[in-house]
Amino acid sequence: MIKFAYHKYNLVPVAPIGALATNGTRQGALFRIMWPDGGVGYADLFPWPEVGDHEIDIHIEALERGKISLLLEQTIWLARKDAEARTDHRSLFATGARVKNHFLINDYTKFSDSTMKDIKSAGFTTIKVKCGRDFNEEAGFVSRFIRQNPGFLVRLDFNAKASFAEFERFLSHFHTVERAKIEFIEDPMPLDFEAWTEARKMIAIAADFEFEKLDASKAEAAFFDILILKPARTDIDSAMKLIDRWGLKMCVTSSLDHPVGVAHACAVASRLKKFYPNRLLDCGCLSLKSYQPNDFTNSMFVQGPYLTGIPGTGIGFDDLFKRIEWTPIKIK
Ligand code: MG
Repeated sequence: MIKFAYHKYNLVPVAPIGALATNGTRQGALFRIMWPDGGVGYADLFPWPEVGDHEIDIHIEALERGKISLLLEQTIWLARKDAEARTDHRSLFATGARVKNHFLINDYTKFSDSTMKDIKSAGFTTIKVKCGRDFNEEAGFVSRFIRQNPGFLVRLDFNAKASFAEFERFLSHFHTVERAKIEFIEDPMPLDFEAWTEARKMIAIAADFEFEKLDASKAEAAFFDILILKPARTDIDSAMKLIDRWGLKMCVTSSLDHPVGVAHACAVASRLKKFYPNRLLDCGCLSLKSYQPNDFTNSMFVQGPYLTGIPGTGIGFDDLFKRIEWTPIKIK
């Protein structure tokens, strides 16, 4: 039988996380999973109650009753990849392709000239801005940013907070030349076939959380251009089938989760980059700066937009996984 153990943790945001999240400390759990074949793997489970996920304790209690939540399914899938690599004594970062990441701006009001200088010299060429609190102010920020930084592309995440009229008004702030610097708008408004079809005539549209509401088997044709893949939430194999069928581009991102989740997202992105170099856009896996650093953050090697490695086997962190306290789960 598969044996589970967990380790609960808190993450403290350094700034409010867009319009989606409630402020304050967030909670998730790392899982250690042992398979009957001797494989041992690790992965994260980080719920977003704001989009309807159960709190972490509910996932753990369900597992004690033998029930596996959708998020836990992804945790198990990722932990298995980790376990296989650990068994072979190889790092999941040793063989994949190099993946460039965007710089995430959760709160643009805290974005300063000195941060801009830093990200430019670190080699970033894309930013992603969380929007949805005040579209007029946000359009002002983005248009200033584009004028001052012509070498950058901008991605915007509306988290389905706009109406169609607000979306149109937002875009009216930009001339054609500026608009070309907006690479895509993610989840512009609540999922709706007709509204999204109209929206993508104006700008490329990416689907993230709104995609989870879609029964893709029933949708006949693509009504967005890019699929955001979160390995912590999305079944990658079935998403890849849709990406092929609809000719979509893709962008792997973390779930704004623990560094272990970030590490897994980076490993998946680098594997996909190897096999689909033209379909995979720059990614959004390096969200480490969204939270106060912990021991895991500090053992990752990051160079500007790139994760350059994590020492150890699998996704790394071998010593830390040995050191932290695990609570075994007794399945009733
Ligand atoms: Mg999003």
